Amino acid sequence: MDYDVIIVGGGPAGLSAAVYARRANLKTAVIEKLTFGGIITTTDLIENYLGFPAISGSDFGKAIHEHAMKYNPDMIQAEVTSVKEVEGGYLVQSDAGDFTTRTVIVASGAAPKKLGVPGEDKFFGRGVSTCATCDGPFFAKKDVAVVGGGDSALSEGLYLSRLVNKIYLIHRRDKLRAEPILQERFLKLTNVEFVWNSVVTEIKGDKKVNGITVKNVLTGEEKSIDVSAVFVYIGEVPQTSFVDVEKDDHGYIITDQNMQTSKPGIFAAGDCRHSLSKQAIISAGEGALAAIAAQMYIEGRLKATPEPRPLSAQS
Ligand code: NAP
Repeated sequence: MDYDVIIVGGGPAGLSAAVYARRANLKTAVIEKLTFGGIITTTDLIENYLGFPAISGSDFGKAIHEHAMKYNPDMIQAEVTSVKEVEGGYLVQSDAGDFTTRTVIVASGAAPKKLGVPGEDKFFGRGVSTCATCDGPFFAKKDVAVVGGGDSALSEGLYLSRLVNKIYLIHRRDKLRAEPILQERFLKLTNVEFVWNSVVTEIKGDKKVNGITVKNVLTGEEKSIDVSAVFVYIGEVPQTSFVDVEKDDHGYIITDQNMQTSKPGIFAAGDCRHSLSKQAIISAGEGALAAIAAQMYIEGRLKATPEPRPLSAQS
């Protein structure tokens, strides 16, 4: 076997797993397709990771990457395409080659969900964005739309509010989902117009975005709003299609309390896992536990849980 553990994903869950796996002397690789540090590197400000009262997503990403590198896991930049059972473990196939391993920790996170409306793909990168910190500065002093009512929409909206002229917050209900502290701050902003009970039905433009059509879901009434950009924050899709383990209806991987999936030797941690909440600090804890469980599995000390159960409450 090439490795004792291959960790798929280099965000907080994957890098925390790498620290614990290497400290247990396991031969470890982390395979990441985009940025070591994970999608949280695109967040403007993190305020709820214990020990870091205020840190930018990019500084946090650098810190956790450097911390993991201290223990010298193999860091492989590649996209994993499949995980197949072989004698004694698994074959992890990627666009940078194939690797054998005794255990796998899936920490592949989740990607932003798309609206699926006309104009979204056409204008992606030309006004349509899922990253305010990357693209917000291009729209300084312009009017923009933010779609969604969760933590991402409001935390990234708070960042945008300092740059742009005006934000139209488009939300499909009349109540926000985000944590109360973000709601309080957002509701105090003076350059936000709330467009409640509404969904975006089209993103319009010429070479770049110049407007959206929104539909009121209660009355069916449609109206146009002139905006230069649309920031889409309507949730996430777990990136788990490359691995064949038990998942919930949305594709999140189901595990037991020790992060074991339905296949022995495959563990899951972080935002790709079926759980009550997605938070960087929870991902880091789950990654640590997954690595400890992988070590115990290799040593024959982990009791198999053949039927991991989904949570009873999941919104
Ligand atoms: P989220 O919590 O799932 O919220 C998605 C929002 O988009 C909801 O308000 C939802 O409306 C709306 N929505 C979903 N599908 C839609 C559609 N097709 N059209 C229009 N609106 C739609 O997603 P998120 O904000 O991206 O956050 C993802 C996870 O990361 C969450 O667990 C979140 O707590 C976590 N996170 C935490 C922080 C933080 O701690 N500060 C920051 C960012 C993200 P409804 O409310 O009606 O369902």
